[in-house]
Amino acid sequence: MWQLTDPTTRKAELDFTSSGQSVVSVTQLWDGSVQLINAIEFVNWGDLPLQFVVCEACGFVRCQPQGWVELKRDILNLDTLLTD
Ligand SMILES: [Zn+2]
Repeated sequence: MWQLTDPTTRKAELDFTSSGQSVVSVTQLWDGSVQLINAIEFVNWGDLPLQFVVCEACGFVRCQPQGWVELKRDILNLDTLLTD
């Protein structure tokens, strides 16, 4: 089982100008030096599976094929962490 040992959030900016949008401020979730979520605001919360790493050119879920996770346990713990 994998557990977060050093979770932190960081503010970042993603440049969506190539998709006709603007530069947006996002919150990222890291565990130590490992980025887990590149834009918490763009994760498809409420669906399964979740795309934790969305396309950095547009922010749309499903634009890129990778970055999916399926949470089996500790969803409430992770949710609590993300809203702090
Ligand atoms: Zn995209």
